[in-house]
Amino acid sequence: MNFRMSRRRRIFEGKGKVLFEGPEPGTLVQYFKDDAVAAGSLKRGTVTGKGVLNNRISEYLMSRLNEIGVPTHFMRRLNMREQLIRQLEIIPIEVVMRNVAAGSFAKRLGLTEGTQLPRSIVEFYYKKADLDNPMVSEEHITAFGWAHPHELDEIMALSLRINDYLSGLFLGIGLRLVDFKLEFGRLWDNDELRIVLADEISPDNCRLWDVRTNEKMDRDRFSEDLGRVEEAYQEVARRLGILLEGNVSGASNNITSINGRK
Ligand code: C5P
Repeated sequence: MNFRMSRRRRIFEGKGKVLFEGPEPGTLVQYFKDDAVAAGSLKRGTVTGKGVLNNRISEYLMSRLNEIGVPTHFMRRLNMREQLIRQLEIIPIEVVMRNVAAGSFAKRLGLTEGTQLPRSIVEFYYKKADLDNPMVSEEHITAFGWAHPHELDEIMALSLRINDYLSGLFLGIGLRLVDFKLEFGRLWDNDELRIVLADEISPDNCRLWDVRTNEKMDRDRFSEDLGRVEEAYQEVARRLGILLEGNVSGASNNITSINGRK
């Protein structure tokens, strides 16, 4: 199959990814860029090799979630920067799961960053970039019909399950899953409407801190000018066991996975 960028129809371009028309109806190609944007879109830059690493990391995490029965849009990785995904009807809600106070949550509630929360907390944000994705409640979501109450129940249940699973997975490699953002969509499956996990799971939308040193291993390295951004993403991939060597440069052709594929 030849998915030459120039010949494909571009469906959507976001901060970190581009969506192209897929090879078959009901599919899309998700392309991971190196572009980095800090919260509020005020700071922009490039992190060389980030797209390649996020493609891998998201492939790995979505595959593990598929294995435990969480439906995801991920079908297969196509190459270094692209994956084939199922086309969904996206629900315009960002679900943020929080285990430890950080970021906008710590600021809003006046909590010291790093405070362990009494239990995991789910927040919803309305996906509306020109309004800066405002926080909303279940009431807003159901009243405006962005999702039906039973869909929201399913989204909550899946998000909690994903949080439990990923928290354990990351703890096993010495990383604390502080918080992360999920997106969901609808998919018709044999006359049945299913809620399916969309987007990506990577250090671009998860806060990951080293368990021992509390060092940040995610997008905050870029937002907070902490340096060694690319190295942090590489280290996450290395600990997940999806890189043998982490020397990413330029087009990142020298990333080798354990099974030898590029
Ligand atoms: O900035 P805030 O603390 O609200 O972010 C919470 C979590 O959601 C972080 O892990 C962040 O990376 C993620 N997030 C995201 N996309 C957004 C907003 C937040 O991936 N638009």
